[in-house]
Amino acid sequence: MMSPVEFFRNLPKKVCPECGEGMHEQAESYLMECDRCLSKKEE
Ligand SMILES: [Zn+2]
Repeated sequence: MMSPVEFFRNLPKKVCPECGEGMHEQAESYLMECDRCLSKKEE
């Protein structure tokens, strides 16, 4: 059996649809874009 740590390590990375960069999975975040694209939009 896989340990929980191994399980999460094997999950596919969440990718920003704007720039294709991999980004951190944020459980509470409803945002789709990465921090970089979000900050661009705010400007
Ligand atoms: Zn992005």
